[in-house]
Amino acid sequence: MRSFVAGIVTETNTFSPIPTGASEWERVDRPEGIVPDSSLDGFRRKAALAGDEVVFGLYAFAMPAGITVQKAYEDLRDELIGQLRAAMPVDAVFLPLHGAMVADGYDDAEGDLIERVRALVGPDVKIGVHIDLHCHLTRRMLDHCDALVIYKEYPHTDMAARAEDLYDLIRDAHLGRTEPVMAMFDCRFMGIVPTNPQPMRGFVDAMMAAEGAEGVLSLSLGHGFPWGDVPDSGARMLAIVDAKQVAGDARARAARVAEEWGRRFFALRHDVVVEPLALDAALDRALAAPRGPVVIADQADNAGGGAPSDSTFVLRRLLERGVPDAALAMMWDPIVVQLAKSAGVGARLAVRLGGKMGPTSGDPLDLDATVVGIRDGLVQMWPQVDGSLASPAGDCVHLRVHGLAGTPSSGGDVDVIVTTRRGQVLGVEVFTAFGIDLTAKRVLVVKSIQHFYAAYAPVAAEVVYMAAPGAVAPIMETIPLERANLRTFPWVDDPFDDG
Ligand SMILES: [Zn+2]
Repeated sequence: MRSFVAGIVTETNTFSPIPTGASEWERVDRPEGIVPDSSLDGFRRKAALAGDEVVFGLYAFAMPAGITVQKAYEDLRDELIGQLRAAMPVDAVFLPLHGAMVADGYDDAEGDLIERVRALVGPDVKIGVHIDLHCHLTRRMLDHCDALVIYKEYPHTDMAARAEDLYDLIRDAHLGRTEPVMAMFDCRFMGIVPTNPQPMRGFVDAMMAAEGAEGVLSLSLGHGFPWGDVPDSGARMLAIVDAKQVAGDARARAARVAEEWGRRFFALRHDVVVEPLALDAALDRALAAPRGPVVIADQADNAGGGAPSDSTFVLRRLLERGVPDAALAMMWDPIVVQLAKSAGVGARLAVRLGGKMGPTSGDPLDLDATVVGIRDGLVQMWPQVDGSLASPAGDCVHLRVHGLAGTPSSGGDVDVIVTTRRGQVLGVEVFTAFGIDLTAKRVLVVKSIQHFYAAYAPVAAEVVYMAAPGAVAPIMETIPLERANLRTFPWVDDPFDDG
């Protein structure tokens, strides 16, 4: 089998104050480069095992932010289409995408891209699509591809494994062994659903166990991305069945399987969502813990969801309350990094940090701080089920913050990691690269909703999810949605009840 692999990947927070223009897109033109998802590894491994040929096209990634500028999207899309045209003839096309990208004029950018790929290659070439579970799964995406596979794990530790699943699905279809037929079911649910705790762990395990039995080739749950205000938002269950194995109408069978699993997920709705603590309640919890480190997730300022990652609400309270042995990563403030680097290690500075990107970032903090360390090109390692994924964390500085300028210090210093690259915490290196001993800390604040979990759960005495103010505040009812269908949980407890 000869295939073409290319992707355009971002998650669009339609409320983010940061536009996604052409310069926000990073390109990986060689598949060996550092990429923010490991799907390319999965495709490459499977192709090598089978002795298949793969042509890699562009892989473009933008850190989640606001709506992509129309020309930026269209230029990338047209380049990808041009590369595919040059690579033809191919037997298959693999598209690692995100599934929640919105560009000006394109509520469903992935649907547009997939449709154009289909128009170019015709009906006989197999198209496989691989997307993040924080997606808006649409009819249009499904209509123009042969198989679509969504990550199952949150944190996303299974990107490469799901790419391998997709490779097998498409290869079997290409060889005529199977005839995949897809259907989806709208679960009428919106929320943030980690897959490590029960009962969600059991649901994911059950999905995987059901694949390969009774004509079911694949099951995926799109969780939805609540900060993308589009008509197709919300959770969707996807089933792929093999028309060669099921009797009768395969599409009807796929629809029944999708509905059965979708309703099974919906029945868990009250038990799978995280209920984060308010800011001070989260700090109270950490201070009351018998030992540290208590890892507090500042979910609302997660760059991975399109937040600026420069909010100051938590740092201000850590200082005002004099919380001892606390550290925080990562504040996005390139100017402060530049000042600290120019002053050098050991310098004591009066520095204005964070709070620059808008009301959801809070006010800037004027701080009394010492530069303790400088690390250019920091890389964090994100644990995966099949290894780990290197992820760039930017040029970083370690500030030891003694207090708010002009205010007598009320307690201990706070270690703060500041970066030039807006990004969420995925690995422990954001602290350990500076010699910070995690186990000696009482409180570690990480700006991340859930991806931090894989690296931090093994060292944490306790993990606390926190809902401070911010651009991706994790309380569904506070998101100012206007275009989404709100006849959906949690706005309506049982949207399926029409009586
Ligand atoms: Zn995601």
